[in-house]
Amino acid sequence: MEALADNNEEEMVTKDDYYKDNLNASYSSTKLYSRCETLYEQTYVSKTYEEPDHDYFTYGKLVDAMVSEPEGFVAEHFVRVERKVQPEMALKIENDIKGIEAEIAEKQTQMKEKKEAKKEVIKEKIGTAMMAIKKKVEKKPDVDVTKDQDKVAKLTESLEEVSEDQVLAKGIVSRTESIAELQLKLDNIKELADKIQVTNAMWEDAEETANALRAHPSFSNLTFNSVTSQQIFRSQRNGVPRKGKLDHLKLSPSLTKFYAFYAAEQMTLEELQERIRTNVHKEDLWAIITDVKTCRSIEKLEPYNTHYRGQLGYYQDLVSDTLLIPVENIKCRILAADKLSNTYKTAELFEYTQECLDELKPDVEAWVQLWWQSQQTGVYTSAKAKLGWHQECFTCSECRNAPFSVHPGQPVMVSEPRFNKSIN
Ligand SMILES: [Zn+2]
Repeated sequence: MEALADNNEEEMVTKDDYYKDNLNASYSSTKLYSRCETLYEQTYVSKTYEEPDHDYFTYGKLVDAMVSEPEGFVAEHFVRVERKVQPEMALKIENDIKGIEAEIAEKQTQMKEKKEAKKEVIKEKIGTAMMAIKKKVEKKPDVDVTKDQDKVAKLTESLEEVSEDQVLAKGIVSRTESIAELQLKLDNIKELADKIQVTNAMWEDAEETANALRAHPSFSNLTFNSVTSQQIFRSQRNGVPRKGKLDHLKLSPSLTKFYAFYAAEQMTLEELQERIRTNVHKEDLWAIITDVKTCRSIEKLEPYNTHYRGQLGYYQDLVSDTLLIPVENIKCRILAADKLSNTYKTAELFEYTQECLDELKPDVEAWVQLWWQSQQTGVYTSAKAKLGWHQECFTCSECRNAPFSVHPGQPVMVSEPRFNKSIN
């Protein structure tokens, strides 16, 4: 069985908690599992592998948010920045601050010592002067020592006025200023920490893509609100719990009426299904799923790709299971916009025939079942162990280390070409 291939289309996986839950089969986690079970295990179960933040994740997420989330959502979750600041920078800055604080402490000690040394010199002078007065008076009791006493008085006064070492003092001031600057940076980083940073260039690009989506004639028919936008569906099918998050779901008016109560958690799933069974006419059992996608280029897009069809089919089954709508009454569409064309960004709406969707369902289901088995047994086999040099993982700890050899250190025997047949 082949992996649920990408066909070069990027998968818009976002990293919310929704995606981190690994108790339900989602299309994207199943797809990752089909690429390499070990990679799936390391990503979702043991969490020893974290996918680096690719720019296209952010891009797709931002475009999605711009067109499908309520006002304020973008500002709450994204921040436009000149240059991206890595969270690890915070640790470095904290260490820098500690270093400078130690320097200041050292300089303060030095300053104190220098001051004490200066005072010691003066104290010695006072001692000498007092001794001189004492000797003078011993020799000649009525001698005039006013001048000598003035000298002692002045020395004593100067003892109080011993100034700090200017070089050290300036050093401390400048370092204190550095700390203030660093602290400001640190505060900024911490403020950014729970938001997704987007560079100016990408932000503008995403806005153009979002505008292309909004400009598509079909867009005015899509209202994004709490019952249509980003709906999470869960169902139990063939013994496996599964889930999906739909960008946009349009239901018939009478279905919308009941679904709104369910979405607002004022109705259980059983109550909802009971209402649908008893109150919704057959002809009102319909829905339209629209998934918003960003692709490299509409010009070169292959809308027939496995990812789009597989995912839509998966969503279709989830909606059918939950809302008791026959699959053939659930239209599945992709509203795709490109991000590469440098002249005019453009968008197009695609709808899939039922055959197109059905074709992939058995394959996806087989992977879901395998995934479920692994969930139960805790056994995950790496793509390398399964496929040798036909593996396409190269990412998990097994497949990236001596990527073809099942016994690392042993040579990979070559007797035929590696690319002798097209996998797709
Ligand atoms: Zn692997």
